[in-house]
Amino acid sequence: MDFVLTSQGLTKNYGKFRALDGLSIHVPNGSIYGLIGRNGAGKTTLIRLICGLQEPDSGEYFIYGKRNSDADISAIRKRMGAVVETPSVYLGMSAEENLKMQYRVLGMPSFDGIRELLKLVDLDKAGRKHAGHFSLGMRQRLGIAVALCGNPDFLILDEPINGLDPQGIIEIRELILKLNRERKITVLISSHILEELSKLATHYGIIDSGKLVKEISSRELENAFRKSVTAEVTNTSALAETLDKMGVEYKILDETHAEIYAKINVTELALALSEKGCDIISLHENEESLESYFLDIVGGDNND
Ligand code: ATP
Repeated sequence: MDFVLTSQGLTKNYGKFRALDGLSIHVPNGSIYGLIGRNGAGKTTLIRLICGLQEPDSGEYFIYGKRNSDADISAIRKRMGAVVETPSVYLGMSAEENLKMQYRVLGMPSFDGIRELLKLVDLDKAGRKHAGHFSLGMRQRLGIAVALCGNPDFLILDEPINGLDPQGIIEIRELILKLNRERKITVLISSHILEELSKLATHYGIIDSGKLVKEISSRELENAFRKSVTAEVTNTSALAETLDKMGVEYKILDETHAEIYAKINVTELALALSEKGCDIISLHENEESLESYFLDIVGGDNND
């Protein structure tokens, strides 16, 4: 597999406190990689290191195969855009002025592409309004547009939906999906809002106490989930006989309820049961969530 970012044994101490503890990560090219962890797990520290805002105490990381200690790592960092903590936008400037400022900082030869960027983040109609008067969602989208100046193909977003209202969350989600699918941008996104992340991510990395304890693709995760169906029937002994014949795993809960651990053909089951004079009253599919998977891995309560 082709990776945009990898690290080995990455360690960062703040005084005696070890914020990153031998962390190894693998972010596949073209992925939306969700970095999950409790408050204080080390997500922002990792992102700050990758962005070159801080140096690791030991270990190394590679961006597009270039080692962090290589002299020309800064040239590779030009392929990266990031919004770390709060979006860095000038509140006394309009969206367009902010982007022009960033173009100047990057030494871009012309302002070509600014209109398109404003349209992409849906700020083309914001006019002269200063960013200080924007909603939080607009400000976050402007921060992403600033990060996109210079056409990076790797975007890092640290908690991009924190504090946003439901509409703001949807807009950021759609923007990220568009950037990933249409512009083929790899996105590393940290979040503790797991339900939202599960609508986006193609891969996950679970970080706990400065270590990356699990990396898994959304497809693998889907297979790892133990899906079950709770069935309410008029007679669970008839159900047990039928499921035994079908070779399906199940657990009888009481005279009328059972848990079935497989995808079942409802028509086939209903027909077989009716031959035994048993009716299905209801079927309820239980699906494990990303949150319960996360808690299984890190243990305890998710007190984020
Ligand atoms: P959050 O979601 O709360 O931002 P996080 O996973 O991003 O959590 P980090 O911000 O990376 O976590 O912090 C990891 C740990 O390192 C925390 O315990 C934090 O208090 C500590 N820490 C972070 N920055 C510093 C610093 N500059 N000096 C001392 N300790 C720090």
